[in-house]
Amino acid sequence: MAKCSLCRRTACYVQRYSGLRLCGEHFLRHFERRVRRTVMSRGMLRRGLRVGVALSGGKDSTVLLHLLHGYAEKLELELVAVLVDEGITGYREVSRRRAHKVCSELGVELHVRSFRDTFGFTLDEAAHATRWKPCSVCSVLRRYLLNTAASELGCQRLATGHNLDDVAQSVLMNYLRGDVERLLRGSRGHGMVPRIKPLMEVPEKEVALYAMLSGLEVGFEECGYAGESFRSLVREVLLQLEEHTPGIRYGILRGWERLRGAVATEPRPLRACTKCGAPCSSEVCGACRMVEAVRRGLEGESP
Ligand SMILES: [Zn+2]
Ligand SMILES: [Zn+2]
Repeated sequence: MAKCSLCRRTACYVQRYSGLRLCGEHFLRHFERRVRRTVMSRGMLRRGLRVGVALSGGKDSTVLLHLLHGYAEKLELELVAVLVDEGITGYREVSRRRAHKVCSELGVELHVRSFRDTFGFTLDEAAHATRWKPCSVCSVLRRYLLNTAASELGCQRLATGHNLDDVAQSVLMNYLRGDVERLLRGSRGHGMVPRIKPLMEVPEKEVALYAMLSGLEVGFEECGYAGESFRSLVREVLLQLEEHTPGIRYGILRGWERLRGAVATEPRPLRACTKCGAPCSSEVCGACRMVEAVRRGLEGESP
């Protein structure tokens, strides 16, 4: 194996898109610097903020929580972790235990919100009753629970563990579906807790390597539904593109940001959902409409 580009030790990672070869030590420093730069250059955090962290117990959110915890003292941040329990048999139990453990080690409060307690059904039941793709139900209801929890807990930011691959996948998916509105609009709307994605400039593989090299206890188990999704197909294609043209994920990210900058969109005018009061752009929010449909499905009617 070749030597590290920065010292005489053996490299354990070759960053194809930059040409850098890094030993364990230098990889860790490099990764931390990159995330710090993302956070600082994009103005994600300010001194004294109360930050909600979406924690799943998986590698991305665990690495995120550790890094934010590392900034907490200097920036006087207050961290609160939020875990959404979707009720996916065999998947959530282990990661939930792990999330509890990491929070108690770091002294961070953990709040759990479950589909069952909030909506009266689990994701398994919802998918079965409606025959909808579980991922489309999950993405709407999960985001809803995270947003409402962050706002109830008085958070001024909601940090999620989305990495470069996740962001590039979302851009491609919206583009391929022709969903220009979703492609261009930001996550910000009036009344919503602003979202931040500190890991958005690091590839998924590097997040996994960081977790491993820094000895973090993380899970690599995937949600059992993940393989069925459109996202997983896009993920594969994107990895092939990256293999062919290293750095293409950064190209997708930069191009998308330039596009969004060029086509300035107004922040969505939001009002309160007449059913739940959450900020939304129509009379009843997407989550409430979905919950109604699932309940109809559970009662045997067509959703
Ligand atoms: Zn080195
Ligand atoms: Zn609603």
